[in-house]
Amino acid sequence: MKNVGFIGWRGIVGSVLIHRMIEEHDFNVMHLIFFSTSQPGEIGPIFGGLQDKLQNAYNLDALITLDIIITCQGEEYTNKVYPKLRKNGWHGYWIDASASLRMQDDTIIILDPLNYEMIKQGIDKGIKTFVGGNCTVSLMLMALGGLFANNWVEWVSVATYQAASGGGARYMRELLTQMGMLYDEVAQDLSNPTSAILDIERKITMATCSGKLPTNNFDVPLAGNIIPWIDKQLLNGQSREEWKGQAETNKILNTSNIIPVDGLCIRVGALRCHSQAFTIKLKKKYLIA
Ligand code: NAP
Repeated sequence: MKNVGFIGWRGIVGSVLIHRMIEEHDFNVMHLIFFSTSQPGEIGPIFGGLQDKLQNAYNLDALITLDIIITCQGEEYTNKVYPKLRKNGWHGYWIDASASLRMQDDTIIILDPLNYEMIKQGIDKGIKTFVGGNCTVSLMLMALGGLFANNWVEWVSVATYQAASGGGARYMRELLTQMGMLYDEVAQDLSNPTSAILDIERKITMATCSGKLPTNNFDVPLAGNIIPWIDKQLLNGQSREEWKGQAETNKILNTSNIIPVDGLCIRVGALRCHSQAFTIKLKKKYLIA
């Protein structure tokens, strides 16, 4: 059995992945070891009736013994640990949810079934690093994959409306805390059916702009708001999230001529699930019977 280390299992992506792997009975064919960046030594989750202590996710000596590392921890962790492991001669499979390694030449962005053949060929060729795509790129390609596979798409303009979950567990908590604080501001007025809605709205707006709501993650309040910006700003004026649309799409599809993908990525105050709207230019008129 392969020794598989799991880092980032209690975050949003990690917990969804674990549930999926349980449904697929994946854990029957591997020896799983849980790591943590913040709680090494604590008791880990129960699997198959077994429960071990969490290992230290920064312990290179432990990581180097693994055949496969699955990390849903994030970019900072990957940037710190991955180069050191490879430099120390570790040849295992690194499977990552973060963006850090996506655009490297020796990695494949995984979007099975869309690029299943590429993944299989990559394994045969000795590729050892596989990375999940940006969530909105993956969602777009899962929805429109047939159009791309037939090479019908000339360009795509995409607007994404992304929930707090896209930022991770701490962002979801921050949104809920903001919601609770805003509710507290007007709870009394709301309990009175005759109170004026514009007075309530003014109190909410004042509280939103007061600087008292926690904004460590989103930088500005998201509750009752939208933020038309996700990730860092790039020199070309795009946000990094918008840039990923074209870069990752073309890498996943292995296109020889770049398919332009651009648009807007907007954070909305929903807790979970993203929405997308597409304007698609096809290469010619297609009549589908
Ligand atoms: P996350 O929810 O923030 O979890 C990452 C880690 O943060 C956890 O494994 C945990 O590590 C730590 N953590 C600290 N406080 C926590 C709390 N209150 N609850 C749970 N975990 C907490 O991050 P994520 O959204 O899963 O994203 C992981 C990576 O995948 C990122 O690079 C992200 O960009 C990428 N990604 C995310 C999405 C998405 O929709 N969220 C989609 C595609 C890719 P310790 O146990 O070690 O403390």
